[in-house]
Amino acid sequence: QKAEWAKLVNEPTVSKDGVHVELAANIGTPADVKGVLENGGEAVGLYRTEFLYMGRDQLPTEDEQFDAYKTVLERMEGKPVVVRTLDIGGDKELPYLNLPKEMNPFLGFRAIRLCLEEQDIFRTQLRALLRASSYGNLKIMFPMIATVSEFREAKAILLEEKEKLVANGVQVSDSIEIGIMVEIPSTAVMADLFAKEVDFFSIGTNDLIQYTMAADRMNERVSYLYQPYSPAILRLVSMVIEAAHKEGKWAGMCGEMAGDPIAIPLLLGLGLDEFSMSATSILPARTQIKALSKEQAQSVKETVLNMSTTEEVVAFVKETFQV
Ligand code: PEP
Ligand code: MG
Repeated sequence: QKAEWAKLVNEPTVSKDGVHVELAANIGTPADVKGVLENGGEAVGLYRTEFLYMGRDQLPTEDEQFDAYKTVLERMEGKPVVVRTLDIGGDKELPYLNLPKEMNPFLGFRAIRLCLEEQDIFRTQLRALLRASSYGNLKIMFPMIATVSEFREAKAILLEEKEKLVANGVQVSDSIEIGIMVEIPSTAVMADLFAKEVDFFSIGTNDLIQYTMAADRMNERVSYLYQPYSPAILRLVSMVIEAAHKEGKWAGMCGEMAGDPIAIPLLLGLGLDEFSMSATSILPARTQIKALSKEQAQSVKETVLNMSTTEEVVAFVKETFQV
């Protein structure tokens, strides 16, 4: 099987009926790019920048960050690289920020919420990204967006930093797409309005599932509620993709679900444009998609979205797509 996969490293991901989707990889450090290319990744769909900030006792400097972003962009040789701005908080702590303990860290002061408040941290990261942008195909994505106002504020700060750099003669790309993670139910519900303002969506199912089901993604005792194939999740995913397409934007997914063999036929049928997963899942996913017909996957969309339970969905997928 490994030999079969290896033949697909340099092939695009095209369904049996000729539709291309993009298979991208999730990375945490510049060193991870090697694995992305070896496994035939067409893009980096999620660069989790928080690792730059973790395991040390002070913030990374603008230059340290610039080096990391530039390295990833250069090694990807013009292929898209979606960099997510700092997503700290929740289970990922930065002791040196001395933030007060919270009752519910996953519902607390994290990610974009922290960045909009601690703007020095945010602006430093944005400047590093903007300076690196001319070395490749950079797309910037904000995590944990809950309201359109948060997105507008984050984007305005980004454009402010861009203007300042340009005024100082720094070269900055003019084609940076600006998107958001859809990982909070309010944002999925408002996707039609977000779609008018963002360049793309990337659905973060790891968090979207826990927030939709109100089930902590780390808590074993409620793990039965953590259901990627729940019709509730599939309906939200479908809404987000439809909203994006209506405005001519693309929709990706960077949660674990994107590389899951049971989810893949469903996501193809819902119209997902980009699947971002761990690098080692890319070739198995490409093999699976090449054997699927997008038209057939699409034809069962309504049936699946009208099922009552996860169990029905799973049984149906196994039977229909021989997973
Ligand atoms: C997600 O929430 O699906 C996601 C990709 O982000 P993280 O797992 O880093 O929270
Ligand atoms: Mg998340």
